[in-house]
Amino acid sequence: MFKPKVSIIGAGNVGIRYAYSLLQSGLARSIVVLDSDKRRAEGEVMDLASGMPYLSPVEIFSGDYPDLKNSDLVVITAGKKQLPGQSRLELAKDNVGILKEIIPQVIKYSPESILLIVTNPLDVLSYAAYKISGKKPQEVIGSGTVLDSARLRFLLSKHCNIDARNIHAYILGEHGDSEFPVFSSAMIGGVFLGDYCRICNSCDHKERLQHIFEAVRDFAYKIIERKGETSYGIGLALTRITEAILKNENSILPVSCLVSEYYGAQDLYMSLPQILNNTGVRETLKLELNAEEIANLRKSAEVIKANIKGAGL
Ligand code: NAD
Repeated sequence: MFKPKVSIIGAGNVGIRYAYSLLQSGLARSIVVLDSDKRRAEGEVMDLASGMPYLSPVEIFSGDYPDLKNSDLVVITAGKKQLPGQSRLELAKDNVGILKEIIPQVIKYSPESILLIVTNPLDVLSYAAYKISGKKPQEVIGSGTVLDSARLRFLLSKHCNIDARNIHAYILGEHGDSEFPVFSSAMIGGVFLGDYCRICNSCDHKERLQHIFEAVRDFAYKIIERKGETSYGIGLALTRITEAILKNENSILPVSCLVSEYYGAQDLYMSLPQILNNTGVRETLKLELNAEEIANLRKSAEVIKANIKGAGL
């Protein structure tokens, strides 16, 4: 069976939670962990490798850029993180500078690999990675609102008391404060959420859905207030994106990619439902959005574009 190589740049909270989840998934044959803090990367890998007898065989080691050679996927989690009270967008300039160090090395040693960007502010950094790398846009992907959409599905699942796997609902736009929910096409089983709510009729659903969306939008802030960082949820979300790519699944996930044209938005990175396979983003799914959602999408696109400009890109 084809078992691919994944390289992780950034052995911090996010990189290591992802490595832990990836190890358990059995998706990779070989995992390289790289960090500017070499001893930290070494220590994390030693710790992870201690569980090897309980996993399907996989090679994991801490390395340097030449070790990235022939990676199928390079996942970039390196960078500064969001501090309590700090917006994701305030991080932009510093983290673009870090990508300018990392990406040319990745391209030098593993030019064919798909790049998955996780560092915040996500859409700005993904756009920066696309520009710095010179790669095709479909091969430079941001983790986008896959995590935010998972939180939406989780909260809807709790509210409706239905398995989250039977709930299809997207958060689209910026991975950040201007993101928005797409309730008009959300589904529970094969039933549109709007119809489900009418049949269920057990809450003031408009108010409740707004409340759920606000909880999703503020989820990361609330976690950071309590524990200083978010990492487990994103680790699992990254493993799901990895699976879609490495197993050539043609799965639809709301990752961030270059928008050529979508309801008037263009030439930026933002999250839309994308069909993902081992070439990266195969195609964008055109959703039927209502007028409010179109307005939200355009607002979010404006915010991202302003931040791309603000970051000097
Ligand atoms: P962290 O501080 O724990 O880890 C960052 C790591 O990057 C550190 O180990 C640091 O040594 C390393 N690093 C810094 N510069 C480097 C360089 N030039 N080369 C190699 N390594 C370098 O931070 P974290 O909690 O893991 O968060 C990492 C990033 O992920 C942040 O930007 C954070 O906001 C973002 N994040 C994104 C999402 C998402 O949904 N996209 C979710 C959570 C966190």
